[in-house]
Amino acid sequence: ESIPITDIIPPLIEQHKLKAGKPVNFTVNIPNNIAVFADRTHFYNMLGNLIDNAVKYSGDKPYCNISIQAETQTNGIRISVTDNGIGISEASLPHIFDKFYRVPSGNLHNVKGFGLGLYYVKDMMSKHGGSVSVKSQPGKGTTFTLHFKN
Ligand code: ATP
Ligand code: MG
Repeated sequence: ESIPITDIIPPLIEQHKLKAGKPVNFTVNIPNNIAVFADRTHFYNMLGNLIDNAVKYSGDKPYCNISIQAETQTNGIRISVTDNGIGISEASLPHIFDKFYRVPSGNLHNVKGFGLGLYYVKDMMSKHGGSVSVKSQPGKGTTFTLHFKN
């Protein structure tokens, strides 16, 4: 099913603003008429997982900035979610997509979770013929990017 990305962003933003427990500022930069071919529920849940993490790992900052960007490329579409949260150390980055993996960082990390969200995103992106990548700077923030192939 072809899903215009801009269709699913407003309900996602609403949902996560309501449950965040602190102000979340969303910046959305998505060209009109960009659509991905995906299962609607899974597409919604994949982006939902990334936004959920962006809020959960925002640390003790009193607010959370999340930027959602999308762009068309020659071989597909890429959608990224960037936060200004606690970031992920270089040592942990290779493991974060593993089933049940959570970064072991003691008191910084008294946030509930199973370590399944990113495993689901990676698995589901590969089932859609795509992939997911991550870039992070500890203490500064993280960007996850979904790559959909044409
Ligand atoms: P679940 O998603 O199952 O509720 P979870 O959030 O712990 O639990 P994942 O979403 O798979 O699991 O993320 C794995 C780990 O990667 C997290 O526990 C966290 O340590 C780290 N992580 C994920 N996203 C971010 C992010 N945006 N900023 C900082 N750390 C992150
Ligand atoms: Mg998660």
